[in-house]
Amino acid sequence: MSGAAGSVIVAGGGIVGIACSHYLREAGFEVTVIDQGAIGGECSHGNCGYICPSHVAPLTEPGAMKVALKSLFNPQSPFRVKPRFSPALARWMLQFAARCTHRQVLSAGKHLQAILNASMAEYRSLVAAEQLDCEWEDKGLLYVFENQGPLEAFAAEDRLLGEHFGLWATRLSSAELTDFDPGLKPGLAGGFHYPGDASVRPDRLTTSWTERLRQRGVVFRERCSLEKVHREGQRIVGLETSEGMLAADHYVFALGARSTLWSKQLGISIPIEPGKGYSLTMPRPEHCPDHPILFPEQKVGVSPFEQGLRLGSMMEFAGYDTTIPSRRLDQLRSAARRYLVASVEAPAEETWYGWRPMTWDSLPIIGPVPGLARGYLATGHNMIGVTLAAATGRLVADFVAGREPFLDAAPYAPARF
Ligand SMILES: Cc1cc2nc3c(=O)[nH]c(=O)nc-3n(C[C@H](O)[C@H](O)[C@H](O)COP(=O)(O)OP(=O)(O)OC[C@H]3O[C@@H](n4cnc5c(N)ncnc54)[C@H](O)[C@@H]3O)c2cc1C
Repeated sequence: MSGAAGSVIVAGGGIVGIACSHYLREAGFEVTVIDQGAIGGECSHGNCGYICPSHVAPLTEPGAMKVALKSLFNPQSPFRVKPRFSPALARWMLQFAARCTHRQVLSAGKHLQAILNASMAEYRSLVAAEQLDCEWEDKGLLYVFENQGPLEAFAAEDRLLGEHFGLWATRLSSAELTDFDPGLKPGLAGGFHYPGDASVRPDRLTTSWTERLRQRGVVFRERCSLEKVHREGQRIVGLETSEGMLAADHYVFALGARSTLWSKQLGISIPIEPGKGYSLTMPRPEHCPDHPILFPEQKVGVSPFEQGLRLGSMMEFAGYDTTIPSRRLDQLRSAARRYLVASVEAPAEETWYGWRPMTWDSLPIIGPVPGLARGYLATGHNMIGVTLAAATGRLVADFVAGREPFLDAAPYAPARF
């Protein structure tokens, strides 16, 4: 395939940048992806790998601010705002707080559901067509509860998802749970299974997808960092990088949690805060659970892989903090211990943190940069960037190619801020 449609540089080689490069190449563009580190090496690397159209509920649920305020005094809290002076964070929190209403949950949820479902449909065809070697599993997503109170509270949430979004889970009693997944301990309160979700091993997804795209002529340049956006009037004319000047016909910025640092150069507000999470991956234990599972009481997720078991969790608003405190890893293990038959004591093969690109309205930012020709944003994917990447890539390719977007992209427009 030639680059007859023109050329594009995608800045940022996470799952979102990779997906953009796929659809751009398919549309006939010559594509170069640059990343300051390794392709797929940041937030897209060690996450839980759920492809989860069931995640329609935004983070801005009523009560979220109460949890955030309490967390100021509790460093152990899985959802935590670390006290620090940051006008940007204060503004972000105020906007977030204003959206913590039932009405906003429904409105953001509808917009999320549209792109979630579109992305799942894209993945289903592309994982098969490209034969991506990513441990794709169609086992749904299981929510498991230790205690009756939180189980019943979740039942109310499940009803809301059913009534407003047509998402109905299968409720499992305590006895049914252990039949459903023998990797769970007896005596748990019960669970809910969302059968429409799937899962991947995220590092294998980024590696195998990148490999396919390389074979098709997409150029990936690692350790090539974007340093400055060059403009002439109201259009971009080139990118200054650590490897010199690069120019193309179009420029896509898929810089994940660091996108906000480019607000000034792109001339728009990109209100993203890094939402830090952690994971720990160990060799696959005996009696490993069979399903991807969430333990909402502990806010911990479990991802069984062919060769390993990953525990992942936490949402810390702590700026661009790079530490991995051992207490956070201990919390992952002690949460999993309560539910799993398997031992979770094996030494970690990998401990990891990632910065989720969090927006205050829980919606991604996809589309042309307002007032700046040739520039496009693909960022702000919050807690579901792996899931949303495929539809994002297709939307970006539609915009760059000047086609009608395949999905109503108005709710994700960068111009909304
Ligand atoms: C613990 C945890 C669990 C998660 N679980 C899931 C899940 O189960 N399912 C799901 O859908 N999502 C999940 N997520 C969220 C998901 O990981 C993110 O939404 C997604 O990875 C964001 O992708 P991205 O490509 O936007 O960002 P990244 O993967 O961070 O990619 C951005 C890239 O831009 C590069 N970059 C930045 N600045 C520059 C520069 N100046 N020059 C060049 N390159 C630059 C970075 O090096 C990076 O590679 C989870 C996140 C965490 C933390």
